[in-house]
Amino acid sequence: MENETLFAEEAEPPGRKTGLVKCQNEVIDFFSLNGITSQPVLAKRKTERELFPFKDSPRSRIFRKRFYPEITRFEWYDWHWQLRNAIRDVETLARILQLSDNERQAMMHHTGALPVSITPYYASLLDTRDASSALRRCVVPVVDECLHTAGEEEDPLNEDADSPVPGIVHRYPDRVLFLVTDSCSTYCRYCTRSRIIGRSNQHYINMEKWEKAIAYIENNPNVRDVLLSGGDPLTMSDEKLEWLLARLKSIPHVELIRIGTKVPAVLPQRITPALTAMLKKYHPLWISIHVTHPDELTPEMSAACIRLADAGIPLGSQTVLLSGINDNVSTMARLVHGLLQIRVRPYYLYQCDPIPGSSHFRTPISKGLEIIQGLRGHTTGYAVPTYVVDAPGGGGKIPLLPEYAIGWEKGDLLLRNYEGNVFRYPDNHAEKKDIH
Ligand code: SF4
Repeated sequence: MENETLFAEEAEPPGRKTGLVKCQNEVIDFFSLNGITSQPVLAKRKTERELFPFKDSPRSRIFRKRFYPEITRFEWYDWHWQLRNAIRDVETLARILQLSDNERQAMMHHTGALPVSITPYYASLLDTRDASSALRRCVVPVVDECLHTAGEEEDPLNEDADSPVPGIVHRYPDRVLFLVTDSCSTYCRYCTRSRIIGRSNQHYINMEKWEKAIAYIENNPNVRDVLLSGGDPLTMSDEKLEWLLARLKSIPHVELIRIGTKVPAVLPQRITPALTAMLKKYHPLWISIHVTHPDELTPEMSAACIRLADAGIPLGSQTVLLSGINDNVSTMARLVHGLLQIRVRPYYLYQCDPIPGSSHFRTPISKGLEIIQGLRGHTTGYAVPTYVVDAPGGGGKIPLLPEYAIGWEKGDLLLRNYEGNVFRYPDNHAEKKDIH
């Protein structure tokens, strides 16, 4: 149990009172983050905490001292260090985790499309012994990835067919997906874009391709919303990201920019005061954070999300439903409740896309419906994400709901509530019809 200030802002103090946040049974007092007062304060030398705007959690501190004893906390909190030292080979991983035969085989004979990369920070969250633990299954490959089953496709969402120029997917009328990089700090084994991610060929970070993509957006005045994704846009430098944001913001018909990222969960050190100071120049800017399991909701991730929220950036979450990882109501309830505490609104729960080798991750649709039913009505509506299937073949996101509307009877709509009780609503203005 820890109850202490996580960081002191230098460049951009957070709000005066950001609250007491409970995460993973730890209570973090964010109230004393800034010490801002309305009283004039005497100039004083900056403390080490003010100069160093992060504080590592006990868990990552113990991990760092055990596996990276030569590394200072300053280096540990340098996101470039985390990226440079991402774990990519079996020897390094075996130094940290007791690898199962299955994991070792998969690491040694890995020939699949998606490479392995795990930031040291995220490695600190993995269970060192249990290969079946949630976070470990998300990032350590197993041989099941080689098992290709019916219905799986390299590009299950048919994004390539909706790509008028490289890097742009234009599926819906008023918005585009802009794939700005093919890199992530940590690769999720169930990644929908495993066909293009992690090739290290700079496929998308190419000024000529970016210019063509931006020209496409400029020439399509119906595009009012641009979602930057990849790969993970927040693995790019502040300068590259700002160049893109500035170009997009200068297009008159672009009303909204969104960023899709897993960085706050896998590389929270990236959310620096300098980054948030830059991002907040490009409002309205929204961020969707890919979160999988409550074990990701660490003090470090809390601090990263609160820093983004204090910069005025609305935060939503996106979660992929994964078999044996988060496919039960209690795990999902812990996740969505924890997210609300760090000011992230649960947004989408995705049915796992059928990429090759994903059958060990996929659940029946009934599981997703059961989870929504277990949340809706049982907890605050803000905590309940929309459960969607991204339709294979390019049909887009289709929301699924448990059956709450049973049908009509004598002009009344019959409705089932969260407790299973049936109620009637006098649907007088609708065309009269009965249950068939
Ligand atoms: S962070 Fe997103 S893009 Fe990167 S590997 Fe995970 S799912 Fe794929």
